[in-house]
Amino acid sequence: MRYEAPTTVDRAVSLLAAEKGLTFILAGGTDLLVRMKSGQIEPDLVVDVKRIEPLRRITAEGGGYRIGAAVPSAELGEHEGLRRLWPGVVEAANLIGSTQIQGRATMTGNLCNASPAADSVPALVAAGATVTIAGPRGRRELPVEDVATAPGKTALAKGEIVESIFLPARPPRSSDAYLRFIPRTEMDIAVVGAGVSLTLDDKGICKAARVSLGAVAPRVLLVKEAADALIGTSIDEAALDNLAAAASAACRPIDDKRGTREFRIQVAGVLARRAAAIALRRAKGQ
Ligand SMILES: Cc1cc2nc3c(=O)[nH]c(=O)nc-3n(C[C@H](O)[C@H](O)[C@H](O)COP(=O)(O)OP(=O)(O)OC[C@H]3O[C@@H](n4cnc5c(N)ncnc54)[C@H](O)[C@@H]3O)c2cc1C
Repeated sequence: MRYEAPTTVDRAVSLLAAEKGLTFILAGGTDLLVRMKSGQIEPDLVVDVKRIEPLRRITAEGGGYRIGAAVPSAELGEHEGLRRLWPGVVEAANLIGSTQIQGRATMTGNLCNASPAADSVPALVAAGATVTIAGPRGRRELPVEDVATAPGKTALAKGEIVESIFLPARPPRSSDAYLRFIPRTEMDIAVVGAGVSLTLDDKGICKAARVSLGAVAPRVLLVKEAADALIGTSIDEAALDNLAAAASAACRPIDDKRGTREFRIQVAGVLARRAAAIALRRAKGQ
């Protein structure tokens, strides 16, 4: 196996594009190294992106933030502006693993590992985040929800790497939240995850919302019907009930030892409801 640690995105792309064998990008390595050490994969080339300086930065852009693909989740929690603008995304990233894991793990790695149970992804989808992808044919943008195409599979072509995740600006009276259910208090894989992002008008009526669910389908879901249950309401009990019902109805979960189908469907509604209530409080500045 060859290991390369280029200092520019262009060099990383050309290394990945030129290699005929199995290639992987290494960010924090908290998924990749586990898979390598357990013998699940045997890469011919690993391209470490942590020495590419622009990928290590969080940059303010157009009222939002651009997060480089090699920024570990611990740094997100230390960024005051990001915490204020997108608290749900930061809380999701700060649920990943433990303090040690968060010192290495990136949101881009969480996204490109393409697990339906990845914690930061429902929060990013609810946020309407986009990724910038660099490849042999230049750069392109993709909504976060289109990056994973199936468990373990992404929409990235040969030679392409995710350069950054962009979290957009948001109007006043907006906020977000992420909740997950795990059987333990930490260090576990989400049985269900729910992300909600919403905006209120000056009378407290919800004028925009996005609701996303993790671990209840082969890909993280963006549930329009659940968002529609909030839009045009003051997010009262009836709206929250409708949101929960729509979230549960969208689920197509597996049945395994960590949670039955029925359990996951019910919990998805409960968590979406609770996440919406938290986002509402935050949007009201409470
Ligand atoms: C003990 C432990 C606990 C964990 N707990 C959680 C948890 O609670 N919640 C959770 O969601 N996950 C958890 N994980 C999984 C893992 O930590 C996360 O998925 C993490 O965010 C992966 O990020 P990384 O930077 O380490 O990715 P890496 O391991 O470096 O990469 C992961 C995948 O993404 C690809 N990749 C990385 N960067 C790029 C890029 N720029 N462009 C294209 N592809 C790229 C890699 O090639 C690889 O296939 C845990 C892992 C461990 C070991």
